[in-house]
Amino acid sequence: MWILSFLVILCGTTIAFADHWGYPIEQANGVVKGEENWGGQCALGRRQSPIDLAEDASVVGYYPYLSFINYTQPIQNAKVRNTGHSLQIDITDGQEYLMTGGGLKGTYMMDQMHFHWASEHTLNNERYGLELHIVSHEKRFGTFAEAVKNKNGIAVLGILFHVSDAHNIDLKNILDSAEPIKNGVGQSSLIKAPLAPADFLPKNRNSFFRYEGSLTTPTCDEAVVWTVLTETVPFAMLQIERFKETTDDVGAQLTNNYRQLQRLNSRPLVYVKSYEESASSMTAMSISLLVLTQIVRKLL
Ligand SMILES: [Zn+2]
Repeated sequence: MWILSFLVILCGTTIAFADHWGYPIEQANGVVKGEENWGGQCALGRRQSPIDLAEDASVVGYYPYLSFINYTQPIQNAKVRNTGHSLQIDITDGQEYLMTGGGLKGTYMMDQMHFHWASEHTLNNERYGLELHIVSHEKRFGTFAEAVKNKNGIAVLGILFHVSDAHNIDLKNILDSAEPIKNGVGQSSLIKAPLAPADFLPKNRNSFFRYEGSLTTPTCDEAVVWTVLTETVPFAMLQIERFKETTDDVGAQLTNNYRQLQRLNSRPLVYVKSYEESASSMTAMSISLLVLTQIVRKLL
């Protein structure tokens, strides 16, 4: 009996951590129902992602500028891959896309980029159409596999896309290139037009939310320092529909691939305002201080 229980536990563990996990199914009315059943750290962790990035739940932080090294260089031999859970662009060896500064405690090297439709993080309770995750590991650990064992070993940059009238040409490039593999899990195809990581970044890279969390897919390792930019990037409604044409490992349409919101618990959520915003509010504060000083002087 004991051996049987042990086997059941062992099998349960294997299933939970195998690649056969999935997202709750979207109902006909567009509502996504049901929790994920991913187990392990995904169920037990206290520092999970994604979360609602609410300004009123955050503290304002002042960090130096984020810097992106080589991000304007086109990705060599760039391919888009159907992982069964997303469309992903892997960075091959020999290319160094680095992110540092902005309050990060190390230099992070890019491994891959992938998309979630709809967005995983919400901004002041609002869910966006699409979220890009640029995943990097801290360079001193050498590999993603080693870095993910450490708190803040992984840095993910999140970019939110809002629906507009215009097609996003960089997303069009990805979607057109993904056409032959959208129904082939594990397959990849070459990206047609040159693509550099900076193409996806909004103009303002200095206003963002920062918190410590997890990977948003099994095994949900709590190793991620998150940076989600507050300026959103436009894309067209029809482009979401094209993302949804991707199929998973059982041939079902991946109509959504976002994880539900997790509790903030006792974690600090830092809102970093860009220099321009901080500068204008500082000016406003200096003016009011000046006025106050003059009033006090008159009173005396
Ligand atoms: Zn992701």
